[in-house]
Amino acid sequence: MIEIKKQKNIAILGSTGSIGTQTLDVVRSHPELFTVKAIAAYASDELVEKQMAEFLPELVVLVDEAAADRLRQRVGDKYKGKTEILSGSEALITAATLDGIDTVVTSLMGFAGLAPTMAAIKAHKHIALANKETLVVAGELVMKTAAAEGVAILPVDSEHCALFQCLEGERRDKISKLIVTASGGPFRGKTTADLAGVTVKECLAHPTWSMGKKITIDSATLVNKGLEVIEAHWLYDIPYDKIQVVVHPQSIIHSMIEYVDGAVMAQLGSTDMRLPIQYALTYPERQAAEWPRLDFWQMKNLTFEKPDMDTFRGLKIAYQVGKAGGIMPCIFNGANEIAVAEFLAGNIGFLDIYEIIERTIDARENVTGELSLELLNSEDAWAREYARGIVSSLNAMGGK
Ligand code: MG
Repeated sequence: MIEIKKQKNIAILGSTGSIGTQTLDVVRSHPELFTVKAIAAYASDELVEKQMAEFLPELVVLVDEAAADRLRQRVGDKYKGKTEILSGSEALITAATLDGIDTVVTSLMGFAGLAPTMAAIKAHKHIALANKETLVVAGELVMKTAAAEGVAILPVDSEHCALFQCLEGERRDKISKLIVTASGGPFRGKTTADLAGVTVKECLAHPTWSMGKKITIDSATLVNKGLEVIEAHWLYDIPYDKIQVVVHPQSIIHSMIEYVDGAVMAQLGSTDMRLPIQYALTYPERQAAEWPRLDFWQMKNLTFEKPDMDTFRGLKIAYQVGKAGGIMPCIFNGANEIAVAEFLAGNIGFLDIYEIIERTIDARENVTGELSLELLNSEDAWAREYARGIVSSLNAMGGK
């Protein structure tokens, strides 16, 4: 049995992003339960300065050196002897492993979340996992290491938190199916021809959830749902053919578990990420909260449909790489991160995201067996470089 303290010291990696700021909201509403000991962000020095003043953490990390310099200049000696400011990506490891921290909230974006998460696990910190890419690229390594170190991986992703709640009091070996719900994103019902010309702005208008840019694009391509299928596979040790994705545009049911007798457990709630964040931080307890409630008298329809994996190929590719295992999910993720960044920068079209992912995967021979962090680092770097090469060739052809 893994022991989890009620009163916790926490570190937040990615404190200025969507999950990070909502985590601080949860902390604000339960100051008796949580102390923020460390915050880390990439480059948002102004927001970090405000968070520093409010929560007085022992350690503040800004990965970007210039942003850290700006912060140091502005605060001067104000926090001397109270808060240390560090910069560079190694400082994320320092924040993740700081003495006295019980739980690390990992809400960094993308592959960059893997190394600090692994370091935190090895330093016996529980993980409130909001960085799904960590399990996508290194699921086996992360889950094995967490089990060996007696560390809990508490999912913050709304679907996985729902599955986690549906599992309470139940037995994993009695699961017959995980049913992961999907909103379908802003382009549900569209054809491939419709998608050719969609803009970044249209992609960022998500119908039900307000999230960061990268995950919102991933939701539009259904890559996000694909990443979540792989994440669910590792979190709950369930084979891919027992993980079903169901489009549920209202995003009221956050996911379900069907058990061997046909009973289906579902977790419902408003589309507010503070609920899964708080549950991950207070588990196994529940705490009162003020956020909006579901009103079943006002609710109209709950509808369900099959995802269109031929148009939104992100989900289909994720099942393929997930089943292939080995380095393939890492290659998939690396290519996707580059493709999404290039799409957000206006350098490629929406459908090019799929092309970049598929061509990168096709170009790499799989490696299976035990995967080390070093190997995953080099495979991720390979995927990024290869994907960038495809972007250049698309642009050279005058494409967009
Ligand atoms: Mg999710």
